[in-house]
Amino acid sequence: AIALAPRVQRIKPSPSMVARDRVRQLQAEGRDVIDLTAGEPDLDTPKHIREAAAAALEAGETRYTPVNGTPTLRKAIIEKLARENGVRYAMNEISVGGGAKQVIYNALAATLGAGDEVIIPAPYWVSYPDMVEACDGTPVTVSCGENAGFKLSAEALETAITPKTRWLILNSPCNPTGAFYSAAEIGALADVLLRHPHVAVMTDDIYEHIRFDGGATPCIVAAEPRLRVRTLLVNGVSKTYAMTGFRLGYGAGPAELIAAMNTIQSQSTSCTSAISQAAATAALEGDQGFVTEAREMYRLRRDRAVALLNGIPGLSCLPPDGAFYVFPSCAGLIGKTTSEGKTLKTDLDVVMHFLDAAGVAVIDGTAYGMSSYLRMSIATSLPKIEEACTRLARICAALR
Ligand code: PLP
Repeated sequence: AIALAPRVQRIKPSPSMVARDRVRQLQAEGRDVIDLTAGEPDLDTPKHIREAAAAALEAGETRYTPVNGTPTLRKAIIEKLARENGVRYAMNEISVGGGAKQVIYNALAATLGAGDEVIIPAPYWVSYPDMVEACDGTPVTVSCGENAGFKLSAEALETAITPKTRWLILNSPCNPTGAFYSAAEIGALADVLLRHPHVAVMTDDIYEHIRFDGGATPCIVAAEPRLRVRTLLVNGVSKTYAMTGFRLGYGAGPAELIAAMNTIQSQSTSCTSAISQAAATAALEGDQGFVTEAREMYRLRRDRAVALLNGIPGLSCLPPDGAFYVFPSCAGLIGKTTSEGKTLKTDLDVVMHFLDAAGVAVIDGTAYGMSSYLRMSIATSLPKIEEACTRLARICAALR
């Protein structure tokens, strides 16, 4: 057998992808499963973006591009950042990669050494801790409970910082909770960071346009320009424009960091697809009507899901500010017994019971760093959300 590296033994496959595979398998066996595990929009990529991809293909844009992305796309990104986020970046301060995920990975690979700490507020997107570990770093998760709005406070950040801290990762709106940091909250975190010049900050802004009040998501560099030299803004087109399969994300940060990230990428994937880069340019420069329409659709679904879930005995759900997930507490179900006599001891037991008894697939909060919660995607049709909640109400009422 081929021996595996310690690196891979430290990490686990993404739980949402594992859940997705399990659902596909059950569906292939003919089971009627409502899948609420998806981390991607259920909408089609807008037509003008698909057309731009097809046109690029026809025009022969089928070759390697510069490692850091085509100049046209980087220009479109610079304009987007100026227009929407009020920050100015130069061409050598942008790196384009195969999704926000690769950009984050490149940044961690380019900066972390053994023992370096990365502060990750929990609940968190599942990949942060594993990516940190894959890059030999140490994830320092800070539990941010429901009574803190699932958000990192300035005090909690201050306490978590040590001389070994290299990064703080902030994700607003957050996957899985939908929590969003206001300008005042970003300002308070920035004040703490100013006192600790050795700490860099990575903001994962991938859900910035899925904000139910329709407002702009504050950017830490615009709020505190003195942090610009140690901030990496991470973003992409996957969620905003329903382009997950295009694999296109980007980072904006200080030139030396970006150059190091480009070096890592030049020795791994070289660049992301030229066709995807043309499509992303069209997404950023074209009509933004889709963004507003998608947000309205998610908002309707959120309102309905939260109302229905709060009517189910044992579940309680705060309305998320953004992203396309709801994150109800299932604490009221823990300790209950199913009609088959099985006691639900953990949120994973709840997940398995929902799948077996109701054919509803969700993900346990524990996978996101907070137990006794569930993550349910609302990137699925309203009738499916309603049917799922009807089924869950029935099986939850049957618990003893
Ligand atoms: N960041 C967060 C918080 C996410 O939820 C996801 C996707 O699930 C990503 C990044 C990855 O996005 P991309 O498709 O650009 O790699």
